[in-house]
Amino acid sequence: MKTLNFKPVITSEKENNLRQEVRDFLKEHGKIKDAEVIDSWSVCDPEFSRALAQKGWLGMTWPAEYGGGNQSYLERYVMIEELLAAGAPVGAHWVADRQSGPLLLRFGTDEQRTHFLPKIIAGECFFAIGMSEPNSGSDLASIKTRAEKVDGGWLINGSKIWTSWAHVCHQMITLCRTAPETKDRHAGLSQLIVDLKQTGITIRPIENLAGDKHFNEIFFDDVFVPDNRLIGSVGEGWSQVMAELAFERSGPERFLSSYQLLEAAIKQLRKNGITHHAKMVIGEYTARLMVLRQMSLSVAKQLQEGKLPVNEASVVKDLGTSFEQDLPDAIRLIINSEPRPSEGEGIERLLSDAILKSPAFSLRGGTREILRGIIARGLGLR
Ligand SMILES: Cc1cc2nc3c(=O)[nH]c(=O)nc-3n(C[C@H](O)[C@H](O)[C@H](O)COP(=O)(O)OP(=O)(O)OC[C@H]3O[C@@H](n4cnc5c(N)ncnc54)[C@H](O)[C@@H]3O)c2cc1C
Repeated sequence: MKTLNFKPVITSEKENNLRQEVRDFLKEHGKIKDAEVIDSWSVCDPEFSRALAQKGWLGMTWPAEYGGGNQSYLERYVMIEELLAAGAPVGAHWVADRQSGPLLLRFGTDEQRTHFLPKIIAGECFFAIGMSEPNSGSDLASIKTRAEKVDGGWLINGSKIWTSWAHVCHQMITLCRTAPETKDRHAGLSQLIVDLKQTGITIRPIENLAGDKHFNEIFFDDVFVPDNRLIGSVGEGWSQVMAELAFERSGPERFLSSYQLLEAAIKQLRKNGITHHAKMVIGEYTARLMVLRQMSLSVAKQLQEGKLPVNEASVVKDLGTSFEQDLPDAIRLIINSEPRPSEGEGIERLLSDAILKSPAFSLRGGTREILRGIIARGLGLR
């Protein structure tokens, strides 16, 4: 039977120094001094993204020839772990930095890299993910949005859904059908970089359970995209999407979405006294968190080595999202506060936010059932 590779990683002095530098930056940055936020990587603040850009913390691992920092995946890991633990609003640049840039580095043309990467690094160009459609989420190969070849480019018709921050982003990597469906369901798909301000695009917000409007429906009505915005070759879309998901599934954002609640609970228990049972709960969740950090670091190291640890990334996402979803209920039973939405103070609002937002944690980026199917296949069991 195939096995999973999670070799332990110890961060170096350089990485530890960077951790301190990020903490110092966050302490000085007025906006998040007392931030208590659930799921801060879904909070969009372009100004904060530009402040990170000025520190050189966007495109950190990318080559210097495009303006990147040429730093390691472990340095990037340390930086984003600190931002997320502090509740920093990193949503605006998140997708461009985590997956669109790496995708262009791997599959894009030199013109695309030269055009987009410096803008992403400067915090001036944000990307959205255009994969899901109204009837195609888990079964992504069934997408219907078509890109038809025309003189000098492609004409897109169809729609996408659940597109995070499309109303703020500048560009979207859009998965389209460029040839009719055949027996090989993964053939005939291609990805195009679409300017979201292009004529023929309508973006309509969808309100989520927590009352936020962060994702959207997008409609394409004869949207023209020039030839030079095709990523890689025609028909390569599926393999690109699969590679992209390894970047998307394994980072600390997959277990830190409700972390601020854990911190706030520990603070309250320290102040008000802690029962034996509460100690056991905090111990259990701290142990789970420490294991997840090690697993995620190990995936970061493998990405650094040029590998695509799809199975390991799926394991991190499955265990990580279970952790961040279990946490609110566990905390609710050991603290002396009830969830209260916006009018609530501190921990009451955090608890309420975590309860409302956590169902989405295991849906976005691939559902639990889909991940478990991938893991089973990776182990040679399907
Ligand atoms: C907060 C949030 C942000 C998102 N942002 C984006 C974005 O920016 N861009 C984008 O493209 N998409 C985005 N999505 C969409 C997300 O990728 C999809 O919701 C997800 O892939 C699931 O697809 P679906 O919603 O169509 O559910 P479905 O695929 O219809 O699944 C419904 C249920 O059936 C189960 N199921 C489906 N197929 C199988 C199977 N074969 N075996 C067992 N069980 C199965 C699923 O696990 C799930 O529980 C976002 C979603 C959320 C919640």
